[in-house]
Amino acid sequence: MQSLIDEIAERAREVIGRGKVADYIPALAQIPSRKFGMAICGVEGGEYVTGDADETFSIQSISKVFTLILALQTIGSTALWKRVGREPSGNAFNSLVQLESEQGLPRNPFINAGAIVVTDAITAHSVSPILQLLGLVRRFSGTEQIYIDEVVARSEAEHGHRNAAIAHLLKSQGNLKARVEDVLAAYYRQCAIAMTCRDLARAFLPLANGGKQYETGEKLLTPLRAKRINSLLLTCGLYDGVGNFAFRVGLPAKSGVGGGIVAIIPGKYAICVWSPELDELGNSLAGTRALELFARKTRLSVF
Ligand code: GLN
Repeated sequence: MQSLIDEIAERAREVIGRGKVADYIPALAQIPSRKFGMAICGVEGGEYVTGDADETFSIQSISKVFTLILALQTIGSTALWKRVGREPSGNAFNSLVQLESEQGLPRNPFINAGAIVVTDAITAHSVSPILQLLGLVRRFSGTEQIYIDEVVARSEAEHGHRNAAIAHLLKSQGNLKARVEDVLAAYYRQCAIAMTCRDLARAFLPLANGGKQYETGEKLLTPLRAKRINSLLLTCGLYDGVGNFAFRVGLPAKSGVGGGIVAIIPGKYAICVWSPELDELGNSLAGTRALELFARKTRLSVF
C-alpha cells in the first residue's frame, strides 16, 4: 500500500499546473499550488500517508459533512429533511437561481444553500455552535489539535457576499430560524476549520466502518446513518462535477475549495487527498486524479 500511494502521488502531481488555486478570498489564494498530500486509514487499523499529509489546510466544504452529522443529532432526521432535499443540484455550489425557483428548499445539504440551512439548525439550538462542532470533529478524528484558521474565517466574512445573499433569501423564504448574522458567522468559521489529510481520513473512517471511531471503536454513528451519508456523498458530494467523479472514481466523496477531497470505500478505507489547484467546478485536480488512479489500481469502488 505504501509503495502504491507513493507512486500515485508521483503520477497525480503531473497534472499540477493545469488548474487554479481558489482565489475568491486572499487567504486561500496564497497557498502554494504544488502541495500534495494523501492519507489512507483502514477499518482494520492500517494507516498510510504520503507527501504533505501532515500539513493543515482549509477543509472548506468538507465541513458540511460534520455539520450535517451534528444537525441530525441536534434536531433529528425528520425535522432536518423537511428543510433540505436529497437530490443533486446540477448547479454551481454557490448558485442562487434554484433556491429562488424552488421556494427556499435547497436541493441538498452539500451545496451552500443547504449547508447554510444545516448550520442554522445547529445555530438555533446552541449558544456556541462552533464549539460543539469542533467537539464533534475532535471526537471523530481522535485529536484535540483541530482549530479554526481565523485569518481564513475573517476573509470568508469580508468576501462572503454571495453566501450572505443566499442566507437572506433563505430567511425571506422562511427557512432560517436563527439570526442571519449568527448563521453566517458560524458558516464562515466552519469553512475555516484547518485539518491535515491524516486527521480527515481518521475523522471519516466511521463512514467506512459502520459508524465506529478509528481508534477506540466507539460507535459515533448508526450503520444506517453512515450508509445514508455515503449515499448523499455519492450523489451530491462534488457539486455539479459529481457525475463525472462517479464515472472516473466510483466512490462516495466530499470535496472543498481548499483542495481537499475525502473518499469512502465502505467496509475498507477512508482516504483523504489534498492538492490546492482546482478544476473549473471547484474540485481538486490532482486529488481527483489520485483517487481515480487508486480506484483503478486497487479495483476498489462501490460498483
Ligand atoms: N467557503 C466556501 C464558500 O462558502 C466553501 C465552498 C466550497 O468549498 N465549495 O463559498
